[in-house]
Amino acid sequence: MKYLDEYRDQALAEPLLKELRKSVTKPFRVMEVCGTHTMSIFRSGLRTLLPEGIELISGPGCPVCVTSASHIDAILAMAELDNTRIALFGDLFRVPGSSGLSLANASAEGAKIDIVYSPMDCIGLAQKHPDELIVFLGVGFETTTPGIAATILAAKNSDIDNFVVFSTHKVMPPPLLALLDDPDLKIDGLLCPGHVSTIIGAGAYQPLADKYGLACVVGGFEPADILQALILLARQIASGEAKVENAYTRAVRWEGNSRAQTMVANIFEPVDMEWRGLGVIPASGLGTREEYCHFDAEKRLHIEFSSAEEPKGCRCGEILKGKENPPQCPLFGKRCTTATPIGPCMVSSEGTCAAFYKYAS
Ligand code: SF4
Repeated sequence: MKYLDEYRDQALAEPLLKELRKSVTKPFRVMEVCGTHTMSIFRSGLRTLLPEGIELISGPGCPVCVTSASHIDAILAMAELDNTRIALFGDLFRVPGSSGLSLANASAEGAKIDIVYSPMDCIGLAQKHPDELIVFLGVGFETTTPGIAATILAAKNSDIDNFVVFSTHKVMPPPLLALLDDPDLKIDGLLCPGHVSTIIGAGAYQPLADKYGLACVVGGFEPADILQALILLARQIASGEAKVENAYTRAVRWEGNSRAQTMVANIFEPVDMEWRGLGVIPASGLGTREEYCHFDAEKRLHIEFSSAEEPKGCRCGEILKGKENPPQCPLFGKRCTTATPIGPCMVSSEGTCAAFYKYAS
């Protein structure tokens, strides 16, 4: 806890807030890319403490939120297959598909579904249920994929035949490039995601700073980390600079984690991927390489995707693009709450709607 407690210390936050007030010389808008940042900002009450002139908007960095409705429908179809057991991280469990039903409903109807803490738990599940095909739902960004790549390798090395991954893995720079090409999105800086950057490195954002003249700062997740990153962003914006800085040096290096990058590149390859709200973005996802296709759920189960409607009235797509805030959704806090979520941004523990609902409504 040494590297967490000290960054939560209120005594540390006060001088940082003072410094931030001094650094803001003109109003600016910053997109916090990562859902963990969004949640931390709300949970710590930072939004209410920030000096006037700083506007924070949320971006597409919650992996559950950006999973498309057609992918959710495909997952629900797999859950209905005989001799199939779905394994997943918990957040996806309650995300509704286009029918309004979720894996939680499928589970109540008898589908075999296991919440796991690590993809490696699937190895044990595969050994315990030799007559079933264990389908791990690979939903996540660069932070998650090394562990899943390691699990595929472990399954191969152990001759496990009844384990596959449904890969909707996504990579971070391409959606940011797609968003920033939209002239309606007016932002001055990016609070770049800390977790993802431990793998891809701070240097991955250099093309964004170069092409869009955008201030980019990688930040950690404790209140003091976020304040430190905002100070650097405010200083860059005040001086008209556009560069990449790293305010999370205790975890992130410029070049990232090359061992993890190599492991992922050995198992997965870039593919076009559909994002909720953003459509299909070229080379923004990861698919299993041909030599590992035996572990690919899409190929083993011959999954076909059909276009799926977003839940009626749900504004998740606009929220994920940073164009609207949750209270602008007519369903927010009425039909859609954390107890009765309609879209994934209200389901996920990193979702912007859930953050607004829990801490700002
Ligand atoms: S409040 Fe609910 S319905 Fe509205 S955008 Fe958020 S998740 Fe979708």
